Amino acid sequence: MTIELPSSGWYVLANARLHASLTSANLGPADADGFVLADLAIAEGAVSGIAPKTEGRPVPPRSVDLAGRIVMPCFVDCHTHLDKGHIWPRRGNPDGSFPGALEAVGADRAANWSAADVEARMEFGLKSAFAHGTKAIRTHLDSIHPQETISWPVFQALRERWAGRIELQASSLIGIDGVRDGAFFDALADRVAEAGGILGAVTYMVPNLGDLLDTVFRAAIERGLDLDFHADETDDVNAASLKRIAEKAIEHRFEGRILVGHCCSLARQPGDDVLDTLDKVAQAGLAVVSLPMCNMYLQDRRHDGTTPRWRGVTLLHEMKARGIPVAVASDNTRDPFYAYGDLDMLEVYRMATRTIHFDHPVADWPKTVAATPADVMRLDGTGRIAVGAPADLVIFRGRSWTELLSRPESDRIVLRDGARSDATLPDYAELDPILR
Ligand SMILES: [Zn+2]
Repeated sequence: MTIELPSSGWYVLANARLHASLTSANLGPADADGFVLADLAIAEGAVSGIAPKTEGRPVPPRSVDLAGRIVMPCFVDCHTHLDKGHIWPRRGNPDGSFPGALEAVGADRAANWSAADVEARMEFGLKSAFAHGTKAIRTHLDSIHPQETISWPVFQALRERWAGRIELQASSLIGIDGVRDGAFFDALADRVAEAGGILGAVTYMVPNLGDLLDTVFRAAIERGLDLDFHADETDDVNAASLKRIAEKAIEHRFEGRILVGHCCSLARQPGDDVLDTLDKVAQAGLAVVSLPMCNMYLQDRRHDGTTPRWRGVTLLHEMKARGIPVAVASDNTRDPFYAYGDLDMLEVYRMATRTIHFDHPVADWPKTVAATPADVMRLDGTGRIAVGAPADLVIFRGRSWTELLSRPESDRIVLRDGARSDATLPDYAELDPILR
């Protein structure tokens, strides 16, 4: 895109199209799509002023005319698996199913996930996300023994190396059954606390689920940790661990933040059950992240020559209506849980729009890829365009939702601290040495 930005000093991004849900400035009435035209002043790497575009006002000096292009805050991706990313060429999913994915990843992990291997693939994912305009990522880290001793130090090194470019967080990932080994789980919780991480698990409807959740909540409370669960990633209506998590959060009077991912089965359960669960989720203050790309790929996968009949995503509209914070995120990239993906949050938002109907009206759905996940990750001020906040922005070519979401926007301009980023997507060949 031929937009020249000054290389030094202050300047004004004139005629920028901002979505009202993503700016804290009061810019007057928005149009039917939620947009307002504004001039954004950028000085010393931060947004120093936001003024609504008014008829007849002269163009400010040092202006770069964006001619109504959409400007969004840099993205926040609150649910990824950087440690699994890009193993597909080495280990695919034989049948595209969830069990197939679990087994393939388990085998690849045992055979190949050295520190060097995990680091190379995580680094590749971070480069991709950064080039697409993401500034904060939470990744889950497979923490089944002995992988936790390998992947957590890699994460800590990468978090330091990427500081200032991508705010990196990590959550432990083990099947809830792993909590039964008290010594292992205690040591893992200590490791997570020492690394400044988030405590996480995958909940299944196993015997004594309530007791296991008690252990997880107590471990988090003792160490002051936030929680992050994978729950009910299945079409089985009996999978109702989201409700159990909410009940336990209430019972333990948990004061940290809890993010729950997937919750697919909720969309298959009878209405009364669903309402009761949603009430409890709202009361417990849980946030929910939907992973539309992964859900479309794995859920309702059939092997009898028939076509999938449901979308796999959870009930985000009903949740948002109750004030439950909702986000969408990338989840897996080019691994057995999802054969595709590149940590591009615009792609996630486009898929969410189509799959979950984030349109007509768009309302405040754009918050799901920016402000809301930032809040969940305790990144105050991130994910919105505000005076005093860093000028971490993405300038698109599109001037409306239909223009924005119809093309890949591969030529988007990413601004970091007010300067144009020259980051490019890494070449797939960079991974050849470890994937051969
Ligand atoms: Zn996940």
